[in-house]
Amino acid sequence: MSYLTLKDINKIYPNGYHAVHNFNLEIEKGEFIVFVGPSGCGKSTTLRMIAGLEEISNGEFLINGKRANEMGPREREVAMVFQSYALYPQMTVFDNIAFGLTLQGVDEEVIEEKVKNTARILGLTDYLDRYPRALSGGQRQRVAIGRAIIRKVGVFLMDEPLSNLDAKQRVTMRSEIAQIHRETGATTIYVTHDQTEAMTLADRIVVMKDGYVQQIGTPYELYFKPENVFVAGFIGEPPMNFVRGTVTKGTLTFGTNTLDLSKKLGDRTGQYEGKELVFGFRPESVELGKKEESYQIRADVELTEMLGDNTNVYITTGDDKAILKVDPHDTPEVDAGIDFSIPYSNVYLFDGETEKTIK
Ligand code: ADP
Repeated sequence: MSYLTLKDINKIYPNGYHAVHNFNLEIEKGEFIVFVGPSGCGKSTTLRMIAGLEEISNGEFLINGKRANEMGPREREVAMVFQSYALYPQMTVFDNIAFGLTLQGVDEEVIEEKVKNTARILGLTDYLDRYPRALSGGQRQRVAIGRAIIRKVGVFLMDEPLSNLDAKQRVTMRSEIAQIHRETGATTIYVTHDQTEAMTLADRIVVMKDGYVQQIGTPYELYFKPENVFVAGFIGEPPMNFVRGTVTKGTLTFGTNTLDLSKKLGDRTGQYEGKELVFGFRPESVELGKKEESYQIRADVELTEMLGDNTNVYITTGDDKAILKVDPHDTPEVDAGIDFSIPYSNVYLFDGETEKTIK
């Protein structure tokens, strides 16, 4: 039996807006689950239904196999960390972390021990006497997490907890959250619009769009086996390149290049004649020059961005555009021609109408 079960969960807001459609998910104890998708796709709504802060319109939510739809937030034993970490400014770090336990009237010695243990996990031991105003954004966020994890709860819910931090602090806090999860082993559901956060933190990712789950899988599965164009384009940075077109004589046109689809589709090529297809390849999965077992492409280099660990090359061929990720030592000349190869095994084909992956 799974720890948390979401069965055909729907949310229809009082104004009639259908924000979440038939959400299904089984979560095991200790898992780190990330809900990811563009703003407005229903991530927070789903998280708030799990927290008990928002009513479930339809469907069933189970904790340890027991219906929890009607349980209040406390009864569900969840703790939530929000974007704005709302610490008490007049209280020290110690008192902020201890607050929930103090309210419950827990023994002072027990509180002291728990706060110290929590502070150790979060690297806040040296800051316990400080006030929030004397902390950096990242340290404040850690205190907010400390307040949540000090209570023994079953599930830890986080809604974009890093969005108020700058880019560098986000990277640091990201690895700290992973570390905290390893130490506490707490079942965690984490909401973000950032695919890098999702990929680096999650055991499993739920990709959402317009209130619908697009795919659920490990970071590896989402990257290598995307179910549709949306997931393929959402996971990975820079995103996957797509060339859209109508299949003509078993080929698709990529600018001035003709791609023989039978190399991917074999016997099935004929089935797609006259239909629209999407041809996808990742910027990092190309090779420079003309290689065997690959689509060999000729294009023009429009712009290059040398980033240190790699160079992004913006190419055009006819009206089509794409980005290639190459070794910085191979950075090509701008305004010159370039030959590159896309190994057949690195090409994804999608049905142009349903946008689903052709397997
Ligand atoms: P996300 O967290 O993915 O950004 P939300 O779950 O916050 O998305 O919102 C999903 C959709 O539901 C959005 O279109 C949003 O405008 C809408 N929504 C959120 N709260 C309400 C509400 N109280 N009443 C009506 N619509 C809402």
